Amino acid sequence: MTKVLEVNDLHVSFQTYGGTVKAVRGVTFDLRKGETLAIVGESGCGKSVTSQSIMRLIPEPPGSIDSGSILFKGKDLTKLKEKDLRKIRGADISMIFQDPMTALNPTLTIGDQIMEGIMQHESMSKSEAKKKALEMMNLVGIPSPESRLKQYPHQFSGGMRQRIVIAMALVCEPEVLIADEPTTALDVTIQAQILDLFRDIQEKTGVSIILITHDLGVVAQVADRVAVMYAGKVVEAGSRREIFYQPQHPYTKGLLRSIPRLDIEGEELIPIAGSPPDLFSPPQGCPFSARCEHAMEVCDRVYPYTSALSKEHHVDCWLQDSRALAAASMK
Ligand code: SF4
Repeated sequence: MTKVLEVNDLHVSFQTYGGTVKAVRGVTFDLRKGETLAIVGESGCGKSVTSQSIMRLIPEPPGSIDSGSILFKGKDLTKLKEKDLRKIRGADISMIFQDPMTALNPTLTIGDQIMEGIMQHESMSKSEAKKKALEMMNLVGIPSPESRLKQYPHQFSGGMRQRIVIAMALVCEPEVLIADEPTTALDVTIQAQILDLFRDIQEKTGVSIILITHDLGVVAQVADRVAVMYAGKVVEAGSRREIFYQPQHPYTKGLLRSIPRLDIEGEELIPIAGSPPDLFSPPQGCPFSARCEHAMEVCDRVYPYTSALSKEHHVDCWLQDSRALAAASMK
């Protein structure tokens, strides 16, 4: 499958009064045409910073992309100037956020907000832009779109507002859609409808989606591939099946053990004890070692190599690497 986006060894940090926070520490992944890649992990693992870096939306300063590359259509987004980035944002790569109310301007009608994106990026007349806005309202399943275009955000329910945000993100037919926790603010029924909508839209438009979430239930429903992030690194990645049925990293296993299951009566949920490391001074070895029941002496001293378990399945864990013994003898 064609790669539409490649993130290579990305390092992102933030300067604070307390020191430098190393939020993203060498993240590498690619996104292929028409697929959904889910990036999962606890709060603070670097998943949102990674996605905002792709859009170059992190405030610089205090944030900075220290090294690495983000390749899109032969261009390295980390090197582009703001005026060139503005042409890409919304037109080629779009983003939707967790809370649809804060993503919408309460003082403008829905029609004006959807049309604004079209008129900014495409040379269309107002009536053409309106026609396109109506098409998008239909695509995301908003009934009576003609009259709804004249309404304001507060006149819509939470689920409808998220549909509008999705319509705004897709109006210029981007190749990549980044969805950062798009269903977290919605109740379960609406969440299911929005996930169905993602699948439907992807089938119709072929858009590639990066889904940022901490919710493995959502991942199980829509992802083709999954990257698990911990302490600013991708510690395991693979197809949805590999991550759910053959997880190898103790952190991924811990995440899966903490999901409630309806098919096992009286099942106890097992939380992952402890908390993530301080990213002001991240450990030099495996960042999960303080919480890992399998931690060995080498884990604290040396960060594990990436082991390939299949074409898609990769894990950073010494348990999977025959070089652990050699690493253990390193000074
Ligand atoms: Fe646990 Fe060591 Fe694997 Fe890290 S490298 S997850 S500490 S076994």
